[in-house]
Amino acid sequence: MVSLHSWRAFIYMGICFFAMTQANAGAGEPAAPDRYAAARQHMVEQDLQGRDIGDSAVLAAMVKVPRHLFVDGRHQDEAYADHPLPIGENQTISQPYIVALMTQHLKLKPTDRVLEIGTGSGYQAAVLAEVAGRVYTIELHERLAWQAEKLLRTLGYDTVSVRCGDGFFGWPEQAPFDAIMLTCAPVQIPQPLIDQLCEGGRIIAPVGGVLQVQELLLGTKKQGRMSFQTIAPVRFVPMRGQAEKNT
Ligand code: SAH
Repeated sequence: MVSLHSWRAFIYMGICFFAMTQANAGAGEPAAPDRYAAARQHMVEQDLQGRDIGDSAVLAAMVKVPRHLFVDGRHQDEAYADHPLPIGENQTISQPYIVALMTQHLKLKPTDRVLEIGTGSGYQAAVLAEVAGRVYTIELHERLAWQAEKLLRTLGYDTVSVRCGDGFFGWPEQAPFDAIMLTCAPVQIPQPLIDQLCEGGRIIAPVGGVLQVQELLLGTKKQGRMSFQTIAPVRFVPMRGQAEKNT
């Protein structure tokens, strides 16, 4: 027979468990373990730390954000392999290493305001939200923008705002930004984006035509002037919209 005392203890344990799972639900808290937690940890150790990703905030973000929820359901089991994956509408999510590398180069502080062009699945935006203060992200494709917004809300990423539109023009109402990241490749970085970068701001973008080798460029604004350095050869989907007309 179960005594009243043990029933009380049982109910108390239940309440504690409920409170713990609720506490883990927010974006600011550690992620609740999922069946991919070990694969995610392994990916971070082998493909990121094992290479040149050393920024502890970036590594913590990559351990936390559940990449498998951002990829197409059929590819969930591949979510923690270091390669790009389809996200629908002929678009791809970058390999984890490139996501981490680009984020690391922006040297983000917890108070920084970041603009991302090319929301796609919303994965990169979630990683940015883990290390920066506020994230604004623009996606040209309506269905992708809507889906990403819904998933980010569900996961508790309340510091991310998604807009559907042409990222060429940036988000002037929210400018200036401390950092800007493009995850689609223009032939030339759009001037409105440079204009929306604050003094000391950083911009990272794959630059190059569809049939050309693209280069990942990191730009810094000092006294109103941009200086650029090349980080690595990369392959991203092209930037559509106004950027195509300007080439
Ligand atoms: N960062 C994404 C992957 C981006 S794939 C992620 O983490 O999943 C590149 C995205 O850029 C695609 O979704 C594509 O639709 C979008 N894109 C292309 N041209 C654009 C433009 N001019 N403005 C905004 N988004 C654009």
